[in-house]
Amino acid sequence: MLRFYNTPSRLYEPFAPIESGSVSIYTCGPTVYDYLHVGNWSSYIRWDILVRTLTLSGYSVNRVMNITDVGHLVSDEDDGQDKMVKSALKHKKTAWELAKLYTDDFMIGMDKLHLAKPQHITKATDFIKEQLTFIRELKDKGMTYQIDDGIYFDTAKFPKYADFARLDLENLKDGARIAPNPQKRNPSDFALWKFSPMDEKRDMEWDTPEDIVEGAPKKGFPGWHLECSAMILNKLGKTIDIHTGGIDHIPVHHTNEIAQSQTLTGKPLAHYWLHNNFLLVNGTKVSKSLGNSIVLSDIEKKKIDLMAFKLFVLQSHYQTESNFTWENLMAANNRLNNWGSVIERKWQVKSSATTDSKVTRALASALEALQQDLDTPRAIIHVEEALNYVETRGLEASAVDIMEVESFIQNGFGIYILTNDITAGQKLTLKERAQARQNKDWKTSDHLRDILKNQKIEVKDTDEGQIWSRLN
Ligand code: AMP
Ligand code: ZN
Repeated sequence: MLRFYNTPSRLYEPFAPIESGSVSIYTCGPTVYDYLHVGNWSSYIRWDILVRTLTLSGYSVNRVMNITDVGHLVSDEDDGQDKMVKSALKHKKTAWELAKLYTDDFMIGMDKLHLAKPQHITKATDFIKEQLTFIRELKDKGMTYQIDDGIYFDTAKFPKYADFARLDLENLKDGARIAPNPQKRNPSDFALWKFSPMDEKRDMEWDTPEDIVEGAPKKGFPGWHLECSAMILNKLGKTIDIHTGGIDHIPVHHTNEIAQSQTLTGKPLAHYWLHNNFLLVNGTKVSKSLGNSIVLSDIEKKKIDLMAFKLFVLQSHYQTESNFTWENLMAANNRLNNWGSVIERKWQVKSSATTDSKVTRALASALEALQQDLDTPRAIIHVEEALNYVETRGLEASAVDIMEVESFIQNGFGIYILTNDITAGQKLTLKERAQARQNKDWKTSDHLRDILKNQKIEVKDTDEGQIWSRLN
């Protein structure tokens, strides 16, 4: 039975999908104004585990993830410059070029990290018509108002606005660093559509339809929150099973998604809301200005396997804050290498007999851990129980068991460990060494061991025979 911690109730709730056997999921995707940093990636790794857990539990998953290529302002409260515009100016590119560059890089990163591709990856700029239809319907319901810089949602008209995030609206201030917009009726009101500044030609702007805008025609662009509501409605329906995102989305972005969607449809937007906690870097918030915004290529440059980064992320629970340091990453890398040296035994063991119940039980417990609110640290411990058991059996272990564990590591965690059998020549060297040992010819045996060591293969002698492992 699956259980998830549901943000609105603050309770662990048993999971029951709307339609038996299938699950609809929406994941708030990245804003493509820069390379994703390790914190962003940790979020997508978390939700990859959600998809994997549901799939292993027999559900078919239909997931949508957006790409925010317009409308996300520097402050989530709809103030400041558009992040895309700001970055495009800095890089001397158009917002369109920038969006393509970082969207492509995001797709490549997803592949490198073996993150399950959502069934639909949708760009905000491809959903302008749907977002305008959404605004039109909210306007018809009397929920919007127009001020100088855009069309806003009147949060005072949605009485449950504060419920999801348990907000204290009395004490809510406009974005702390930015002067409050005096035209807004309530500090929590948010932009559905922003007008292009009169003195600026934006790369990304569209005509505001006549029936939406009051007064002279104006160009504009959608507010950040609207894209998710419009995509959910158009791709998945009025209510979905699971909505995911980072904890930073709770007080503003998801609160606003709920306000506009629920106003429009009269139905709950999602039954389960899952939020990942933040990853720090060296104990501090990830931030470009602090120079600690580590990206995947920084890890690759140090020749560290990206699977080690994935394992590092999964060592902590998605609801707890975690801390990235190079030492922590190296520790995860060593752990991954240890896993690899057990998996390499699939080429060496003598038996391929039926699966051992101890391995089956440990892997069943690992899946059960994932089903209990994606408890990846506990799942890792159970996988290591299975690996340890295989290891202690030496050459008597079963290749089928080893492949069972490997397959769980791949399907449950999306971690792929590259292992290769040794070459025919190396096998011959091992055979000759076994013969030398039988003849008590220690000199030859040591010499052959050194030859293999030079080829980065270490040999251990056990009662049942030699076991090799690759040196890293
Ligand atoms: P953004 O591109 O800013 O919209 O962020 C993309 C995703 O990364 C969002 O779901 C954020 O909640 C998440 N996120 C941002 N910073 C971190 C962090 N340091 N740790 C974990 N998740 C993060
Ligand atoms: Zn969203």
